[in-house]
Amino acid sequence: MIPYGKHHIDEDDIAAVVEVLRGDWLTTGPTVTDFENGVAKYIGVTNAVAVSSGTAALHAAMFALEIKPGDEVIVSPITFAASANCVVYMGATPVFADVEPDTLLIDPKSVAEKITNKTRAIIAVDYAGQTCDYKALKAICEEFNLKLVGDCCHALGAKDEHGQQAGSIADISVLSFHPVKHITTGEGGMALTNNHELAKKMRTFRNHGIDVDASTRSQKCTWVYEMQELGYNYRITDIQCALGISQLKKLDNFLQIRRQLAAKYRFLFLNHYEIKPLKIKKGVEHAFHLYTVKVPANKRKAAFEEMRSQGFGVNVHYIPVHYHPYYKKHFNTGAGLCPVAEAAYEELLTLPLHPGMTERQIDSSAKTLDTILKNCK
Ligand SMILES: *Cc1c(COP(=O)(O)O)cnc(C)c1O
Repeated sequence: MIPYGKHHIDEDDIAAVVEVLRGDWLTTGPTVTDFENGVAKYIGVTNAVAVSSGTAALHAAMFALEIKPGDEVIVSPITFAASANCVVYMGATPVFADVEPDTLLIDPKSVAEKITNKTRAIIAVDYAGQTCDYKALKAICEEFNLKLVGDCCHALGAKDEHGQQAGSIADISVLSFHPVKHITTGEGGMALTNNHELAKKMRTFRNHGIDVDASTRSQKCTWVYEMQELGYNYRITDIQCALGISQLKKLDNFLQIRRQLAAKYRFLFLNHYEIKPLKIKKGVEHAFHLYTVKVPANKRKAAFEEMRSQGFGVNVHYIPVHYHPYYKKHFNTGAGLCPVAEAAYEELLTLPLHPGMTERQIDSSAKTLDTILKNCK
């Protein structure tokens, strides 16, 4: 089975991890800082806080922005549940805004309609690997005094239509280093910001709410620390960050392969009567975390099953978050809340795309889907 996404690890990566294993610091050591500095430099932000997952980074972002019970945070429903769960962790209420039909990115018009006097923040998701309309979202944030979080887990290496790096645009941006993402640390995540105060809060949050970490205490020769806030153990290890540093060196190459393979799909589906790739906005540099197409809703299930049975690990990204039983039960969500997202969901299919694939495999994945749809009544 060719999976829809997969990590790409080589001997350099393995050697980098082994080197840390032979050293003095397995966690909270210099390799964590080096990885943070490397990603911060790549994206062009002043602060990067590495944590144990993308979900932990989202939670840290909500904590730093002081989201509390009673607050509302506007989120896209076409995303992984974690994008909304982080709001619930703070006791606040996620409010789902609809998406644009051709990109599945959060629709600023729908966002504006969902604002109430309880709204505190917006979480924009750079779905599939292209940036949201941050200009419009920032204008809304300014008008209503809201904070903007970018869930950029799909978009490492993407640029918006003004040449700005994904991850550098919102008040806080979040990355994941799960194995299906652009670069991996096994599990891992990062929160990025140009605001030192927010970064400081997130650093504390990942370490139980304690103000000095172990390596700082060791440098200062003191046992003293204070727990100022309730945090968690969301630390990432030096072992993981060694892998991250090694992977970061290959990111541009991974992106180039992803873009090349995506262009191949696009060429093969050009003017196809049933397979419709999502729109790529003019002037953006897409990072192609996912290659998602729309197929006729009445054929989607058969296409999914047939592709799987023929060795193509297709998937569906995503079941709208507000369809999940948890959200229905606790937030009274359900069908009708975001009609555009709901209609799109019926047609979505994610095709295999990752740096270990060849153009030939893309060709065969595209042609198999074409044949399946033709034979499907
Ligand atoms: C992967 C992902 C996350 C969560 O990241 P983890 O590292 O798995 O916790 C959050 N949001 C989106 C959009 C993602 O794709």
